[in-house]
Amino acid sequence: MTACGSSDTEEAPVPARNRAEVFSPSVTKVVFEMAYAPGAEPWMGGFGGAERGFLLMERNALRLFNDSNKTLEIPSSVDQMARLDDVTKTDFTTQDLLDIAVKHRTQISAGNTAAYYFIWVNGYYSKDGQRNNAVLGVSVGDSGVIAVFKPALQDNLDTLVGPIDSPADKLALAINSRLIEQMVMLHELGHAVGLVNDGLPMSAKHQDDGHGHHCSNPNCLMYWMNSRFNSVRQFVTTHITSDASSVFDDACLADAAAFGT
Ligand SMILES: [Zn+2]
Ligand SMILES: [Zn+2]
Repeated sequence: MTACGSSDTEEAPVPARNRAEVFSPSVTKVVFEMAYAPGAEPWMGGFGGAERGFLLMERNALRLFNDSNKTLEIPSSVDQMARLDDVTKTDFTTQDLLDIAVKHRTQISAGNTAAYYFIWVNGYYSKDGQRNNAVLGVSVGDSGVIAVFKPALQDNLDTLVGPIDSPADKLALAINSRLIEQMVMLHELGHAVGLVNDGLPMSAKHQDDGHGHHCSNPNCLMYWMNSRFNSVRQFVTTHITSDASSVFDDACLADAAAFGT
């Protein structure tokens, strides 16, 4: 397992297809199906705190898909996501996440469509019987299943918000928390599509050899530390100035662009 919780491929189910296939010109539609356990709803809203869905994520996903002819279907509000009332556990192995997908997922990758299944669970990542509360998100092998561990995010925010008195500072943190969550989703999406050198070949070497399938550039979202709360929070503060801000560096974007041509 890599630092951020991209799971070992041996835990993955039989792949529907190679994860980099999403960049193929034959794929014209990318679907982000989303679902949440009660109490783990995503924090929606873009820059400025308005109800603007996952605009930052949407733009960066399209950037990754090289602004090609692909259309992206992504929910713009929680109403457009499935509520999973039967998902009540507080610790989740990758197999638990796959089991949820088997039961509830409605979109799969086939033909001209690539599908990803984002689930927000009200619990923590667990492996070998051990809870790991530092893992904010995980991408499960070639399944296209991406999970966000909401309490892991919330615990970090609670620690930050506790000492804050100023309403303006509290609001700023709330906005940042939405962006941090989208960064977690995007980082794991990066793994799900084969970054770095994990199914998607590198155009030029930029893999951080000491840290699994991550990018060597600290200013790229695929840098290994940018899946940890404090680092990704710093990344948001430093790099996100609007919903149009770019989070993948040129090296990662070049890998995606090269596969698509
Ligand atoms: Zn990672
Ligand atoms: Zn990169």
